[in-house]
Amino acid sequence: MTSWTTRALHAGRDDLVGLGLHVPPLDLSTTYPSRDSAGEADRLDILGTGATDGGLPVYGRLGNPTVARFETALAELEGAQAAAAFASGMAALSAVLIAQVASGRPHVVGVRPLYGTSDVLLTSGLLGTSVTWAPVEKVAAAVRPETGLVMVETPANPTLCEVDIRALADSVAPVPLLVDNTFATPVLQRPLALGAAIVLHSATKYLGGHGDAMGGIVAGEDTFVEALRRVRFMTGGVLHPVAGYQLLRGLSTLEVRVRAASANAAELAGRLADHPAVSRVHYPGLEGAARPRGQMSSGGAMVSFETHADPHTVIGAVRLFTPAVSLGSVDSLIQHPVSLSHHVMDPGSRDGAGVSPRLLRVSVGLEDVDDLWSDLDQALRAGD
Ligand SMILES: *Cc1c(COP(=O)(O)O)cnc(C)c1O
Repeated sequence: MTSWTTRALHAGRDDLVGLGLHVPPLDLSTTYPSRDSAGEADRLDILGTGATDGGLPVYGRLGNPTVARFETALAELEGAQAAAAFASGMAALSAVLIAQVASGRPHVVGVRPLYGTSDVLLTSGLLGTSVTWAPVEKVAAAVRPETGLVMVETPANPTLCEVDIRALADSVAPVPLLVDNTFATPVLQRPLALGAAIVLHSATKYLGGHGDAMGGIVAGEDTFVEALRRVRFMTGGVLHPVAGYQLLRGLSTLEVRVRAASANAAELAGRLADHPAVSRVHYPGLEGAARPRGQMSSGGAMVSFETHADPHTVIGAVRLFTPAVSLGSVDSLIQHPVSLSHHVMDPGSRDGAGVSPRLLRVSVGLEDVDDLWSDLDQALRAGD
């Protein structure tokens, strides 16, 4: 069997040589003409259910050939039957929740912390779901007959806590477990192989990898992905084909980017642990901390830490790190979760989830690690 590394470059592109092409074609059509309107009506009956028939999509909200290549590729890299792409990570999560409500099981059990807006979407009940927040060991007890989803992020944003996916999936079966795999990416962790039913990504982050495309994607079983396509057709959160093109290209360098950035991050995490202005570093496996076995193959490229320095001064003082929310780009970013990524959360819940006002989160990129360290060190001293 061809290796994962090789497939990351070729998945979604297997037909190109037969088409006489090297690079995937970018299809910007919003509509797909046909002289056979009776035949198109029959096809709409199929496509409107979320099924696919191998033909062109009739209309851009039903699908797009460039986006479909990205979906095919990501599904393969996550070991899923299928995937559906959306305009953003939040559009992807919204489609999951709408499909869940439509299935008649609107209750969600969530493990905090999640990405701030995911937390707020669940807490608000905006889409007709209700949520019980539970620590991981109490999730199974929180499951009710109307529970349609258990949701977790591992490693979590921004505390980088890991959850044992296999143990959690086993404890809640047959309720589907959704893992937000944005931080780990399928390079480091494949939740479906560990028993999760659904994987979600903010493709805006590592999958794209260059900070210039927004998107979201959900991978899982065929029937579930059909339900998501049906929701997407009716609610319209489609991924733009240009973004689909960029995200497919991103997958071809995903492994080298994630591995190199993770090596930089592990080095920075170790140096931060010895810095006088830093009281605590959050990084999977740092200082021999116990980790779920066979799950994430390295600590990843995100690091967070609590500082005695004024976090706002540190953000103002960096010169190489880009002071900005978001993550997963080839260059390094730093942000203050309480001010940005988790600002929208209710402050009490945020404290309870371990998101302290002293916490800073860095998304480590591909710069020279000594240059990154010099910048962090001088910024921490400036704020001390
Ligand atoms: C950014 C992010 C999201 C939301 O994705 P968008 O593309 O910004 O809508 C969801 N989960 C995690 C872990 C994220 O980092």
